[in-house]
Amino acid sequence: MIDVTVLGTAALMPIPERALSSALLRCSGRSILFDCGEGTQTAARRAGVSLMKTDVIAITHYHGDHIFGIPGLLQTMSVMGRTDRLYITGPGNIARELAPILRLAGPLAYEISLFTLPDSGMRLSELIPGWREGARLTPFKTDHRVASRGYSFTLSRAGKFLPERALELHVPQNQWKLLQGGEAVTVGDRTVEPAEVLGPPRKGLKVSFTGDTAYCAGLVEGARDADLLISDATYGDDAQAQAAADYGHMTFSLAARAAREANVRELWLTHFSQMMEDPEVYLPAARGIFPNTLCAHDGMGVTLRFEE
Ligand SMILES: [Zn+2]
Ligand SMILES: [Zn+2]
Repeated sequence: MIDVTVLGTAALMPIPERALSSALLRCSGRSILFDCGEGTQTAARRAGVSLMKTDVIAITHYHGDHIFGIPGLLQTMSVMGRTDRLYITGPGNIARELAPILRLAGPLAYEISLFTLPDSGMRLSELIPGWREGARLTPFKTDHRVASRGYSFTLSRAGKFLPERALELHVPQNQWKLLQGGEAVTVGDRTVEPAEVLGPPRKGLKVSFTGDTAYCAGLVEGARDADLLISDATYGDDAQAQAAADYGHMTFSLAARAAREANVRELWLTHFSQMMEDPEVYLPAARGIFPNTLCAHDGMGVTLRFEE
């Protein structure tokens, strides 16, 4: 099960009803914050979610509207007594890019680890004990004016447990749970691997988050078959397609095209220009291309569950 909450849906500058870019993903008591624009903390309060246990902040790029909420959040975590290490990842030279932000936050009561996520992604349990075995964070290429990346969070799902196989292999029943949890067990002088007692892997869950990007192949590949894509949609009107491309953004229609080509299940548009008073006005154009499109708003959330 994955809970996703969009915290901020504004681009460039905050307006009363929209904080700047940020979304929180929670899974089995652990969490990842994607971007942390100004207003993220108050947006989380309004949405009724806590950021205090965030394990990882995944930054899409170092433009202010995606990172100016970080120093304040780091301070609040310290004041609230956090002692767990916080991991922060982003594109390019993260240590150099975040140095001024970390200096602003001042001394903190916990450690921060900056890390570069490999292109092939990483099992979160490798980084932080307690994350589910099948949870993985993978970056994908986006096309903005500076070094940038989007992220996909995937939760794989093992095959169905086959008790008849466990019985054939003489695995005692009190060890079945270990195999179901992905651990090998020893029976006599033989090791039984989980794959020996599980059916074929079942469909998992995938959530993709773009940050700022023009329409590009990296986005389509990165978001391939996602259950939910949260995407840059800075401009509503198709007439602004050239401006969108010039500034490394998308119109609603371009985001819908990317969603259709990536074969995602649902698309949420975000990062709305402050010029757009009511994003819903432009929604029909996007739905003409990809019907399962919604305009995100601050605090909008969903729970994604495994299919039975
Ligand atoms: Zn932005
Ligand atoms: Zn940007």
